[in-house]
Parts: sequence; structure tokens; C-alpha cells
Amino acid sequence: MTAQKIDGKEIAAQLRGRIGKAVAGLQEAHGKTPGLAVVLVGEDAASEVYVKNKGIATKAAGMTSYEFRLPADTPEDVLLDKVRALNADPAVNGILVQFPVPAQISQQRVIDTIDPSKDVDGLNPAHAGRLVSGLQALTPCTPLGSVILAKETLGELSGKHAVIIGRSNLVGKPVAQLLLNENCTVTMAHSRTADLPAMCRQADILVVAVGIAELVKGDWVKPGACVIDVGINRIDAPEKGLDDKGRGKTRLVGDVDFDAASEIAAHITPVPGGVGPMTIACLLKNTLTAFCRQNGFEEPVV
Ligand code: NAD
Repeated sequence: MTAQKIDGKEIAAQLRGRIGKAVAGLQEAHGKTPGLAVVLVGEDAASEVYVKNKGIATKAAGMTSYEFRLPADTPEDVLLDKVRALNADPAVNGILVQFPVPAQISQQRVIDTIDPSKDVDGLNPAHAGRLVSGLQALTPCTPLGSVILAKETLGELSGKHAVIIGRSNLVGKPVAQLLLNENCTVTMAHSRTADLPAMCRQADILVVAVGIAELVKGDWVKPGACVIDVGINRIDAPEKGLDDKGRGKTRLVGDVDFDAASEIAAHITPVPGGVGPMTIACLLKNTLTAFCRQNGFEEPVV
């Protein structure tokens, strides 16, 4: 079997297009536009790229993008005051502080300070609790994107056995909860799981969010499974030679051995181009949701 590649770029582009149409409709009906504020502390190169891409996608969807860059030595209280000012700003419907933040700042205190109704990353523990309770919540973007990919690919997920490797608050746990809400039978696996390969071989849907390059081998995959690879790992690529500074080139890989797993699975996400593009699209989706809920507007289905 050669698996069908799940085209996250295309599915994300379609989702962003639907969000853009919904934003235009709401602007026409109410004369208001959603606003997303992104705060970056320090100069981490990868975070700079993410923030730039988020700004581009936000504007392309017709939303207003606010970007705030603070120096790496920003004290925690200065950042928290900035977050409180954004909480109070009615033009800002969503707030995202780009993580990781420098060591002098507590990530949890940042999460706790963002108004939950504007927490478009869905990281406030209130959202986790509400999600578990089946109440209205904002769902973390990468888990939401991962589950949308599975639904777009398979349609109905009810009754399928989903195995999730990784139990982080950011990815693994919300993915499990979302798949449970889709009536999957969910198994959570992690670093202490006994016989992980055997566990994976039971999965109709295998979601991998670990952060170890190519951990999942081809023979861990059940024939015909749908594999959603959340991992992003940079590894040496000696086959690509040297860059212009004489350093060895690198490439991105997921947590799944893509070539080997493609021989067994029916559907698989590539890295890059799978889950990654869905994360920003779902950030826009959450911003639209937050905007509608804050204003009492009916939420468009996107
Ligand atoms: P994390 O380090 O918080 O959690 C990793 C999880 O993997 C833990 O629950 C741990 O129990 C489990 N684990 C560790 N070693 C294991 C092993 N040998 N076998 C089985 N399980 C093991 O990481 P995270 O924040 O959940 O991120 C996971 C991966 O997803 C990373 O590669 C990260 O870069 C990527 N990620 C991608 C996106 C995206 O937009 N595509 C977003 C967030 C995270």
C-alpha cells in the first residue's frame, strides 16, 4: 500500500478561505472586524518566523493584526501589564503570547493572565476543564488542526480506535479529548507505555506528538491506518551538502518514519506540510469564534 498524503497546506488554505468569507460577511452585517494581538518577547529566530506568518495570515483573512515586540530582558510584570492592557482593549478579540518566553517570565502566569475569552491558544486551564466537561471552550490550535485533518480525510470518526502518543497539555491531552468527543475509542500512550509498537498497531487513527525524530517505524503502523504526525524535528541532512557559511544543511522530519509508514498506512500527514499549516488556520478560526462570542454574534460554521 502507498498511503495517500494528507495535504495540510491545501486543507488549511481552504479553511482560511472560509474564515475570510465569514469575516467579510460579519464586517458587512455588523461593521466590525476581528482583531488578533500577538506578543513576542525576545528574538528567537523560529518564533520570529511564526509571528510573521501569523500576521500575514491574519491580514489575509481580513482581520486586524496587532504585533508587539518586547526585548528579551522584559521583566515579567511588564509583559503581564501589556497582557492586561490587551484584555481591556475592545478592538482586540484574541491574544497570543508567543512561547517560549525568556526564563525570567513564568509561562503559566502569562497563561493565567490572558482573559480566557481572548485566549485563542486555548491554554487557560478553564478551557481544558470546559473541553473535558463538554462545555463551550476555545481549543488549542494544533490539536484542533490535527483532528480537522483526520475528519477531512476519514469523514466519520465514530467507533474508530485512536492511539495518541504524547500526553502534553499543549497537544496530546486535547487531541485525546477532541477524538473522544468524536466518539473514538481513545488510548493515550506516552514515555512509560509498555510495548508501544504493539499499542500503535491497534490504531485506526495514530496521532504522534512526542518530539523524537522518526520514532514510529513502519511496522508500528496498522495496515490502512490514518497517521497524523504532529512532531517537528530538525535533523542533519548530509546529503544536502553545506550552506553558504560552510555548515551542514538540515531538514525537518516528523515523529514518524514517513517513507516506511507510507507503505503500510492508508493516509499520512507529511512534515512539513501536514499539521503545521493547520495550526495558524485554527488560530484564525479561534479568533473568529472569540470575536463572535464576545459580541454576541452567531458563530459562522467554517
Ligand atoms: P512535550 O515534550 O510537551 O510532550 C512530549 C510527550 O511525548 C510527553 O507526553 C511524553 O510522555 C511523550 N514521550 C516522550 N518520549 C517518548 C517516547 N520515547 N515514547 C513515547 N512517548 C514519549 O511536546 P509537545 O509540546 O506535545 O510537542 C510534541 C511535538 O509536536 C514536538 O515535536 C513539537 O515540536 C511538535 N509540535 C508541533 C506543532 C505544530 O504546529 N505542528 C505544535 C506544537 C508542537
